[in-house]
Amino acid sequence: MTKESFRDAVIKTLEKRFFYTPSFKIYGRVAGFYDYGPPGVAVENNVLAFWRQHFVDEEDMLEVKGPCVTPEVVLKASGHVDKFTDLMVKDEKTGTCYRADHLLKDHCKDKLEKDVAISSEKAAELMHILAVLDDLSAEQLGAKIKEYAIVAPDTKNPLSDPYPFNLMFATSIGPTGMSSGYMRPETAQGIFADFKDLYYYNGNKLPFAAAQIGQAFRNEISPRQGLLRVREFTLAEIEHFVDPDDKSHPKYSEVSDLEFLMFPRKEQMEGQSAKIFRLGDAVSEGIVNNQTLAYFIGRVYLFLTRLGIDKKRLRFRQHRQDEMAHYAADCWDAEIESSYDWIECVGIADRSAYDLRAHSDKSGIPLVAQEKYAEPKEVEKLVIKPNMKELGPAFKGDQKLVIESLEAMDEKEAMEMKVILESKGEIEFEVCKLQKTVTIKKNMISIVEEKTKEHVRTFTPSVIEPSFGIGRIIYCLYEHSFYTRPSKDEEEQLNVFRFNPLVAPIKCAVFPLVQNDEYEKVAERISESLFAAGIKYKKDITGTSIGKKYARADELGVPFAVTVDTETSVTIRERDSKEQIRVNVDEVAKLVKKLSKGRTTWADISQKYPAHNTNLADCAKDLAVRMLTSP
Ligand code: AMP
Repeated sequence: MTKESFRDAVIKTLEKRFFYTPSFKIYGRVAGFYDYGPPGVAVENNVLAFWRQHFVDEEDMLEVKGPCVTPEVVLKASGHVDKFTDLMVKDEKTGTCYRADHLLKDHCKDKLEKDVAISSEKAAELMHILAVLDDLSAEQLGAKIKEYAIVAPDTKNPLSDPYPFNLMFATSIGPTGMSSGYMRPETAQGIFADFKDLYYYNGNKLPFAAAQIGQAFRNEISPRQGLLRVREFTLAEIEHFVDPDDKSHPKYSEVSDLEFLMFPRKEQMEGQSAKIFRLGDAVSEGIVNNQTLAYFIGRVYLFLTRLGIDKKRLRFRQHRQDEMAHYAADCWDAEIESSYDWIECVGIADRSAYDLRAHSDKSGIPLVAQEKYAEPKEVEKLVIKPNMKELGPAFKGDQKLVIESLEAMDEKEAMEMKVILESKGEIEFEVCKLQKTVTIKKNMISIVEEKTKEHVRTFTPSVIEPSFGIGRIIYCLYEHSFYTRPSKDEEEQLNVFRFNPLVAPIKCAVFPLVQNDEYEKVAERISESLFAAGIKYKKDITGTSIGKKYARADELGVPFAVTVDTETSVTIRERDSKEQIRVNVDEVAKLVKKLSKGRTTWADISQKYPAHNTNLADCAKDLAVRMLTSP
């Protein structure tokens, strides 16, 4: 089976069983938007519930929930307004837009795969382009597109030069249209803006982590690859705030012995492949920057593999130096292999103090933490002394906010202001809370160096951020869980999702073997007990054959199916082995609950209960014949 035919089979099954479908289909759909149907919603809910349990609950994180609509000033401070762009080219005749790097990537891959006569120099050149694709400037991309005579894929028309396109959806807040905003491209900025409250809530102590699950919006230029690149998606993000001078982690030893595929930048640069590392060794050898970052890499590995991601198709790839933002200390992506290649599903970055500093600067509110010194320290500090006689008449009612902003400056800014005031006599100064710039004159303040005793150390925390694209993880999970098996009765292949009970949208199916009142009553009793036990089940009392009912349940990834074939005892079938055991009606809910919650395994249960080997399809036929022929 080729990758493409495997993917077709997976997607066909997912769409047939309404795991998801393109949104607004009756109007011809809009690229990059998908609806999740009932099983898709259930899988997402299960993944998010496990995420909350594994991260928020187990790590005692502070979960928040903020709005999707975000005022412009917040995203200006974070850099998204100016820099959250992709390079785009346009079909010069039709105006259709494409991502410039995608066209170049497709061209290089195509040549490498299909051009049998390609020289080794040319192949090396194309491989190099693929390796540095993310770092090419607009000019470099444009030059390559021209050099390789790349044209619009659909029309073969010439393309424009690449230019940046901001990926945020713009909106305006309120009826006047005067207040600009954007749909958030990530949830993280809301957490940074809440830092002060979170720190206070945490008893003014570090480290702590905040978490947020929510929708993110990115106006992708040409979304493709189904659920992997969409314009609205669920993000689950963690911002772990830590002292930059101490990035050790108290629970590091719980993950340091884990071994899994890692792809450090050195191996990438040398053209090697990912290899198995012991996480603790990667830290002690200086490959992973610090314990806290490593701790999260380990926890992400456990999260993904417990969900059902195949550990042989999961690797942690380190960003190359030229790929990382200048402020970042280290970044690793959890990449999952799918039929589309290796896909970044979780980004885990040590973003240093960049985000909190950016919001402190813009808002004028210090987003800092403090640590009490054992002994007071004598330090020389730049102190800003306002001259009320001058500031009062100049700023009247705004005076308080101007002084607050002046006092919020850090040492570097204060020193710069001092130099300018001494040379030019005045300076333009942005007061964020007033949303305007004011002129500060030399006689309004004095900036002096003073010896003071400090009792606390004040610093901006570093942020370690694991950011999970939930839709991408789920799609990869679908691919890793899918298989086909031959059908007994017909030639066709049966599709199965081998979801573990944790993620399965439905844990248990309940069918009467044949349609009759007695069996239906038993099925109803079992359904009620499953409901009472909190197990998501699906009852099917249609006249469809039992084989077809199993096939339908397998396509939804239902791990257990209960078939009512007597009034006192029933069979439970396990999806992948197709083994069946016989169980008393009153025990069903308890057993299925234990299996679904992972408190027992099928192997254990099948030792304790009698196996049921009868071919149920034949049994159903026999019974139907008996009922028809009986007086
Ligand atoms: P980023 O902030 O770009 O590192 O993205 C964080 C995570 O969001 C990534 O690791 C992806 O899993 C996910 N992601 C980013 N862009 C998209 C998209 N267009 N569609 C679906 N998931 C995305």
